[in-house]
Formats: sequence, C-alpha cells, structure tokens
Amino acid sequence: MIRKITSFAAVVALSISSHAALAAGSGNAPAAAAETEAPPPILFTNVNVFDGFGPELIEGANVLVEGNVITQVSTETIEAEGAFVIDASGKTMTPGLIDMHQHVMLNPPEGTATYQTRWDEASGGAIAIHHMNQNMLMKGITTVRDIAGDPLDIAKAIDMGLVPGPRVYSAGGAIGQTGGHSDFAERNIPVDRLRNDQDVSQASQNTWVVDGVDEVTRAARMNLRRGAAFLKVMGGGGVASEFDPLEILGLAEDEVARAVEIAADNGTYVAVHAYHDDSYDRHLRLGTRSFEHGFLISEDMVKRMVKKYEETEDIVWSFQCYMSINSFGSYDTMPAFFSHEQKLKGVRVGEGARNVAKWMNEHGMFVVGGSDMFSPGLVERIKEDLTCNVAAGFSPAQALKHWTGNAGIVLTWSGPKNPYQTYNLGQIAPDSYADILIWDGNPLEDIELILDESKLQLVMKDGRAYKNTMVTSDSIMYRPAVSEPKVYP
Ligand SMILES: [Zn+2]
Repeated sequence: MIRKITSFAAVVALSISSHAALAAGSGNAPAAAAETEAPPPILFTNVNVFDGFGPELIEGANVLVEGNVITQVSTETIEAEGAFVIDASGKTMTPGLIDMHQHVMLNPPEGTATYQTRWDEASGGAIAIHHMNQNMLMKGITTVRDIAGDPLDIAKAIDMGLVPGPRVYSAGGAIGQTGGHSDFAERNIPVDRLRNDQDVSQASQNTWVVDGVDEVTRAARMNLRRGAAFLKVMGGGGVASEFDPLEILGLAEDEVARAVEIAADNGTYVAVHAYHDDSYDRHLRLGTRSFEHGFLISEDMVKRMVKKYEETEDIVWSFQCYMSINSFGSYDTMPAFFSHEQKLKGVRVGEGARNVAKWMNEHGMFVVGGSDMFSPGLVERIKEDLTCNVAAGFSPAQALKHWTGNAGIVLTWSGPKNPYQTYNLGQIAPDSYADILIWDGNPLEDIELILDESKLQLVMKDGRAYKNTMVTSDSIMYRPAVSEPKVYP
C-alpha cells in the first residue's frame, strides 16, 4: 500500500527506519548522522518513461528514487514505505540530457580560446559556471562531456556542492600540433613562447600545442594527472582556428599512436576532431574511439565505420547537428566573431553535414549528440541540437537516445578515469543515477516541446531537484545530494 504524503515532516518521521538501512550501506557516515540527514525516497507514479533507448515509452510506470539512485522502475505497484509520492500522470520522464561535445571554458563573448587575451581566468571561470547552471543544468542538461578546455576544478567544486552545475567529463586541454586546431596563439609568436606558459591558451590549460611523441606523452599524462576522463586530439583542420585548412592532417601517425597508447594504459580512450576521410582513416587504424564532426567524409567511410562498430562496438560518431547544419548552414548564420576564411570553411561543413547525417542514419551507425554550442547566442539554445537531429532525419526517440542512453554507454569508456562509475548514466532503470527530467507532454510526439522551458517541470540530478514546478510542496528542492564520497588531490 503506497501512502501519499503531503507533509515533509511526516515523511521524515515515517521513513527513518527504511532509509537508515539505506544509509548504512553507503559506509560514509555514522549511522546516527545518516538517520537525520538521509532524505526520504521519492516515488513517481503513473509516469510515461523514455528509458534512454526506447523507441517506445513505458506507459504508466512507477519509478522509485532512493538517495541518488533509481532503484525500481515498474508498471506494477511499488511498495515504498515512507516515500514522498509524486503523481506524474500524463507526464513523460526522460533521463537527464548529456551534451557529449561542449566547451564550457570557451563561453566569453569572443567564443574561441582567443578570448583569453581579453578575459582573465577568473572571469572565464565565472562565466562558465553561470552558463553551466543557467543554460545547462536548469534546462535539463545534467551531464556534459567537455572536449577541449579545462573545467577540472570547476567540476570538483560542483561535485563538492560549492556551486551548482552538471556532471562534467573533461578531456582537459585538447592536444594538437603547431598550426593545428589547438593553436590559438598570435601569428608571430616565437617558437619558445608557443612551447611554454607565455601562450595564454596553453597557460590556462585549455589547449596544448605539441610536436613529437615526447610532447604528446607529456600533455596526455598531465591531463590525466589532473583528472581528465579521456583525451581529445586534433586530427585535422578546423573551422574556428586560423592556420589550418580543413584538408590538412593534424597529429602524425606516431603521435596519434602514442596518445592512443597512453589512453589505453589508463583504461580510457581518445576522441578526435576530424572532418575528412584521410584523418578518419588514420584514427580508425590507430585505435581512436570517439569520432567528432566528420562532415566531409564519404559514404564509403560511413560504411567502414558502421562495419567496425558492428564488429567491435567500440567506436562512436559524435554528431554536432545544429552547429554543422544550422549555424554553418550559410555564410550569414555563422558566428559573428568568425573571419571571412573561417566562414568559408563553415559553409563547406554545412553542405557536407546533411549528407553524412543521412548516411549515418541509413547505415545504422552508433551515434551520440554533442552540441558544440558555446558562447553567447548559442549556449542558450543547446537543446536545438536535438530538434536539429529530427530535422536531419532521425526520429525523436533516436535524437533522445543520442543524448541519453547512447551517451551513457560512451561515458563508461573512461573506465577507471570515469568520475561517476558507481551507477549508469543516461538511463531510467534500476542502478542508474537519479538524473531525471519530467516533461509536461510527450517529446516523442512533439520534439519541439523540449524547447519550451515551461514544459520542463522537474530537473533532478543525483537525487536532488534543481527545478520543480510539479508539486506545490518544495520539500524535494532541498534534499541533500547523496553522492558517493570522492577524494580529490
Ligand atoms: Zn568542439
């Protein structure tokens, strides 16, 4: 028999015995303290669940959250003594969204790493935290994979509860060659300054400029030493950088092989920034696992990737839909801070992206979604990457899967470097972190509703509600997070 509770005090009184047992298993607090601090379980009833994979909703489900973890999902009645019950009839529950390609440290107005000539690191960090709270967490993006940039200590502050924000999987500074996509120094910089902390982009640890296997080794190990969950390398030219046409190759064969070796030594993986067949070929042969962009590759290369995925399940295509198709869709829609040459590069990317998305969909590639949307004008609109996925031919369920279930799988590839490895991410299922969104309506029928913030009624991360317009009692807003203890150097 489920008891509907309206008084927070009553919930605490009724649930002492059940959650004392829960807390006893966590091993990180004396039992007496746990009895007064552990929050009551939360039971969502009669909710339609997108479990992270779909394609169908589980209709009329009940979902139990205990502490920071989902413990039961069932269409049968769930017995949960003392639970705080939330009737979610007619609503849709999805996992928290996971942005697999974000650059939280590059959010000041100028956008790219060159901002650092105009903003100091403290202001860059303050702007990052503002967007991570307001434009990510509060809009339902509960995890970001930060794939060039260094928010590692901001991630630490979030985990310690000092500032609100999404979970962060960071690559640390992206690793590229002199003149490559991580080289944001001014044109006439002397080589000794490009190699040391007098280059602002590298001084802030957002990028590395390396040449040769030894320098790759040092950059990779420094990132991992500071808590990077994976490595990001530059495999070819980029739109936002100045010295590198899209056609070029980035890190050389021996440099890529070393990055892959060091990632594997640490139980994690390499992600590559690359656009065309030559760099995709190099990285497929050498063991890179996460393939970003790829908007100039051929259909044959798409087929080769699908074949490799079907054989090994160890590679993924990371799709930046909005940035490639909408933002780079035409010369005039390009970010204002781009130069003429950068805009011409963007136009080529936009043209290629539509085809590549179609082929990836047709041939059945394993896909994750990553917005690459940062800096003012874009960071407020990250969820348009999902509606773009649908406009590009994927179903709403596929778009959500790219941003939840599939993303959660790739995050586990960080192995011992995974900062959140106790439970699953990106799923509404037992043994998953309680990162939960509740929508007023069904995004599988109308994906556009995810852009209407009034339709997002609950944002929960790690068992704690950050946004709640569902229930009049605000008691769930102030539940303490119950993360597993973390030890930071
Ligand atoms: Zn990017």
